[in-house]
Amino acid sequence: MKSSIENIAQDRLREVGIRVTVPRLRIYEYLLTHRTHPTCDDIYTDIKTVDGSISLASVYNVTEKLAEVGLLRLIVSPDGQKHYDSIVDFHGHFFCKSCGKILDVNCNNNFAPDNLEGCRIDSVSLIITGLCSDCKEADELNS
Ligand SMILES: [Zn+2]
Ligand SMILES: [Zn+2]
Repeated sequence: MKSSIENIAQDRLREVGIRVTVPRLRIYEYLLTHRTHPTCDDIYTDIKTVDGSISLASVYNVTEKLAEVGLLRLIVSPDGQKHYDSIVDFHGHFFCKSCGKILDVNCNNNFAPDNLEGCRIDSVSLIITGLCSDCKEADELNS
């Protein structure tokens, strides 16, 4: 019997009209269950422990494809690293400068800039940087 997360992943791949392949299914399932905004290297390292046939190149290809069809969101951290997110609804991200943790930030999407009249907005992103609560505490203890 298939796990429900596998069924969800399969349905969504079908809905967007792309072929359901084992690597696509594995990688999308991984991202649906790991909400930590992993990089391709993270995804590859983790999946490899259960499926030795996966290659880093296919992780790159699949994440790019899934982002293109709107199933994943690509987030570029302030240090230029590419991370992937299976939550595609509008939300912002907090990047911890010390440990590199990325947290989701809930925010509403009725952002209406008043000085862009005549322009077309394609995307809006909210990036907050700072120290997460653990790192802030450690920082305070050291100072
Ligand atoms: Zn931190
Ligand atoms: Zn996120």
